Amino acid sequence: MGILEGKKALITGIANEKSIAYGIAKAFYREGAELAFTYANEKLKSRVKEIALEFGSELVFECDVSKDEHIKSLAQEIGSAWGSLDILVHSIAFAPREEFKGGVIDTSREGFKIAMDISVYSLIALTRELLPLMEGRNGSIITLTYYGAEKVVPHYNVMGIAKAALESTVRYLAYDIAKYGHRINAISAGPVKTLAAYSITGFHLLMEHTTKVNPFGRAITIEDVGDTAVFLCSDWARAITGEVIHVDNGYHIMGVFGREEDIK
Ligand code: NAD
Repeated sequence: MGILEGKKALITGIANEKSIAYGIAKAFYREGAELAFTYANEKLKSRVKEIALEFGSELVFECDVSKDEHIKSLAQEIGSAWGSLDILVHSIAFAPREEFKGGVIDTSREGFKIAMDISVYSLIALTRELLPLMEGRNGSIITLTYYGAEKVVPHYNVMGIAKAALESTVRYLAYDIAKYGHRINAISAGPVKTLAAYSITGFHLLMEHTTKVNPFGRAITIEDVGDTAVFLCSDWARAITGEVIHVDNGYHIMGVFGREEDIK
């Protein structure tokens, strides 16, 4: 029996089979969770529907998180389909491509607003609207963050600022929802080649470097993230909330760039 047996999970943020959310869905499905999915726009609809079928689900809803009405109708639709919810996976971030070119100093007001709205406020709005469905179910919410929230990663720019805000949001929401018995945590994933990652100037260099100098000397996979997400959303993690868990092969513990053999 899978450790998520009997749990209903809503997965946001799948664009294709390379998405981190796809890795999470795969692991959740393996562990027996029932799944529902959202897609951001019409362009993604048929792909997400196909992926949902792969995981035995026909529950696929449109939700552009910049639109309050989409978030509200999503909650209604999940309510009609399931009547309750145990798990929310928030795997969404966006900033206009130009924001990843120069430095933070070049951030436009509009780019800043968009990054914060889509990548941070959406977590608050989704949590608030879906909360009533989690009543009495010891719900678990997870979101995805990155090391650029803690340290300067050239070209990550406004998204680093947004991820810092996201991690803080996780702590505040953890406090707010604890009184209902729910938890929320963030996974800080190492770099993975996804659609979103390709917007970041020099991402391939970042990926190469991170892979070379982490203690294991290997890249992170969406399966690595999926398995951690299973744990965080399972009852085994019942005392963990407001946390940022690094799934980065230990990259963030390094004080110097490189393992012994690389520095020599
Ligand atoms: P991805 O491109 O596969 O997923 C990003 C998703 O965000 C897409 O499905 C996209 O449709 C969705 N999205 C964007 N704007 C939206 C909107 N307005 N409404 C609803 N959905 C919207 O890329 P990914 O790397 O899987 O990204 C998922 C999460 O993981 C993001 O929060 C990202 O910052 C984070 N993350 C990624 C990496 C990495 O290296 N790829 C590392 C750490 C954290």
